[in-house]
Amino acid sequence: MNIKAFGTKAAEKPLEQLNIQRRNASPHDVEIDILYCGICHSDLHSARNEWYGTTYPIVPGHEIVGRVKNVGNLVTKFKVGDLAGVGCMVDSCRECEQCKNDLEQFCEQGNTMTFNSPDKHLGGQTYGGYSESIVVDENFVLRLPENLDLAATAPLLCAGITTYSPLMHWKVGPGKKVGVVGIGGLGHMAVKIAKAMGAHVLVLTTSTSKIDDAKRLGADEVVLSTDAQQMKKHANSLHFILDAVSAQHDINAFISLLKVDGALVLVGAPMEPLPVQSFSLIFGRKSFAGSLIGGIAETQEMLDFCGKHNIVADIELIGVNEINDAYERLLKGDVKYRFVIDMASLKK
Ligand code: NAP
Ligand code: ZN
Ligand code: ZN
Repeated sequence: MNIKAFGTKAAEKPLEQLNIQRRNASPHDVEIDILYCGICHSDLHSARNEWYGTTYPIVPGHEIVGRVKNVGNLVTKFKVGDLAGVGCMVDSCRECEQCKNDLEQFCEQGNTMTFNSPDKHLGGQTYGGYSESIVVDENFVLRLPENLDLAATAPLLCAGITTYSPLMHWKVGPGKKVGVVGIGGLGHMAVKIAKAMGAHVLVLTTSTSKIDDAKRLGADEVVLSTDAQQMKKHANSLHFILDAVSAQHDINAFISLLKVDGALVLVGAPMEPLPVQSFSLIFGRKSFAGSLIGGIAETQEMLDFCGKHNIVADIELIGVNEINDAYERLLKGDVKYRFVIDMASLKK
């Protein structure tokens, strides 16, 4: 199938309309008509070749929601007309220790990411959600809660699971004081989810324009992280910090806010190293760790959790022709809090 998509042929070129191929649905496949796709900062890192090497052309997008248009004859989870979502992965080996433990994000054979991974079916690269439709094995397709606004649900497929998973793993909940650093797409979801889990949430932002807004999102307290005096007041007070900053920043300033045995977990993925002073960790037996999206079963658990707690992203809905402007605004931290593309604009 030849379909329309939006992507780029080189790091320094703006995104534009492209034609790409999708496979025909095989027996276990679900074909989804894409209605909305979120813009993650990872899309920008990849489109501009800021990580380990992008293969061009690239069609980004891994916060995909839509309606099932066609199913293979052995599909049991979905029928035509159902709502469906696709996140960051579309396949994995399904046999290694990590896959068997529902941790496909750490597949030992290397999982197939939704975009810019080798495509086992058609050769070349996988193409993401800035496109009219996608064909995915049913085991990697998510059921969506029916009670949530569909466009605002899209960001849950990456920003939602990437923050839910470490909050669960480090057992955030009632009685825990949690810091969230960087209030963009991921950070604002972390605030909402940590609050729904029952934690006390401290927002740490560099943007004065987000101070009042953070309380609306559910924060109990807000700190302007560039103000040393404000930071000092919270020294040694947090059990856990989730760091969702997309650029280089001083990690030691945040570790100093952790209590004894506290953990700072990175989900933000700037390419530059983030130097950590030994004494930042030694005094207080503190941990510095990282976390990558979440497995498929946990992504379903997160979607069900968000359905139950009525949690969606705060979004700015845009057309495909606004994607390049959106990337520029993302770089300035100027989005409240996730751009979502209305894919109907591609069909016009
Ligand atoms: P985003 O919407 O652009 O948010 C990033 C936030 O970081 C900004 O809103 C800003 O928050 C803060 N920030 C930006 N530049 C900064 C700087 N120079 N110094 C200090 N703070 C700065 O990005 P996102 O989509 O949430 O993604 C965040 C990062 O997570 C990206 O690197 C992305 O690739 C990565 N990511 C990782 C995973 C994973 O599995 N680990 C999954 C998805 C995304 P304030 O205005 O509040 O300061
Ligand atoms: Zn993402
Ligand atoms: Zn595997």
